Amino acid sequence: MQPGILVIYTGGTIGMVEDSETGVLNPFDFEHLTDQIPEIKKFNYRIDSISFDPIIDSSNMEPAVWVRLARLLEENYEAYEGFVILHGSDTMAYTASALSFMLENLSRPVILTGSQLPIGMIRTDGKENFITAIEIAAARKDGRAIVPEVCIYFEYQLYRGNRTHKYNAEHFEAFRSVNYPVLAQAGVHIRYNEAAIHQATDQEFRIFTRLDTNIAVLKLFPGISPSVVSAVLSTEGVRAVIIETYGAGNAPTQQWFMEALREATAKGLIICNVSQCRGGAVIQGKYETSAWLEKAGVVSGRDMTIEAAVTKLMYLLGNGYSTSRVKKYFQKPLRGEMTA
Ligand code: ASP
Repeated sequence: MQPGILVIYTGGTIGMVEDSETGVLNPFDFEHLTDQIPEIKKFNYRIDSISFDPIIDSSNMEPAVWVRLARLLEENYEAYEGFVILHGSDTMAYTASALSFMLENLSRPVILTGSQLPIGMIRTDGKENFITAIEIAAARKDGRAIVPEVCIYFEYQLYRGNRTHKYNAEHFEAFRSVNYPVLAQAGVHIRYNEAAIHQATDQEFRIFTRLDTNIAVLKLFPGISPSVVSAVLSTEGVRAVIIETYGAGNAPTQQWFMEALREATAKGLIICNVSQCRGGAVIQGKYETSAWLEKAGVVSGRDMTIEAAVTKLMYLLGNGYSTSRVKKYFQKPLRGEMTA
């Protein structure tokens, strides 16, 4: 059987076409997908598409939309061998990370892609991204999907979704996965890095939709004031705070700061340590400036991206786990989002 691929268009630059008279960008008409990209007729697959209406700029992305996407994937899971999600690049790494946790026992490719230039522009990067994403979503070996995980495909590279971040607002190569190797490189051939790709299980696919957004992120900077720190730590309803620390997970050793964190953890707030550095990992205890965090009950995010840490906490809290279980699972790789 030839694979069937479902394309879900959520919005973003990729789906825009420029009005030749006014220069205004208008959303792409998905009813006429093949008119816009005639190349896809050459694929030997069934390619169906669903478009959000209205489409959304990804800066307006919300967990409710992730739930909608997860439901669409669940409803269509048996009918298609692979999925391509067209998405604005700005928050694509958050969506890919969130879906990686929400799609449990995934055995089919879910490939997110987008572009820096609209698909209707001559120099667009969107066509290559879109066409290759479809090819990757359909790629099979010995009857099984080659990449049964949530990925981002952008500018010739396939990344594990929950390891990526958008690092450039202008270059076609907009994403990076600093702490994990690329899953495939597209050149004349698409070369898959099979050793780095997750192996699917035979367990039944199911989705998780009860994300809990009662979290906060506090980015440290020299000069941060006690009132800002205390306002974040005591925000009503917040159950977990990610502190974006320096380097290998270091934070100030000023008395007021240490006390604020100790008091918060003692009251049951979950405090997680994720570095402002994109490469490398938090190692609590490497320096004096991080050893105290470990003792204060702060949990290490190790080499997780901030996008993965945020969405993983929403997933863990949403599961209704106790504080100690959230802390335990936060430090364990669940979907390859951190190095074991
Ligand atoms: N603002 C757009 C979005 O993220 C940018 C893009 O598509 O790359 O929706």
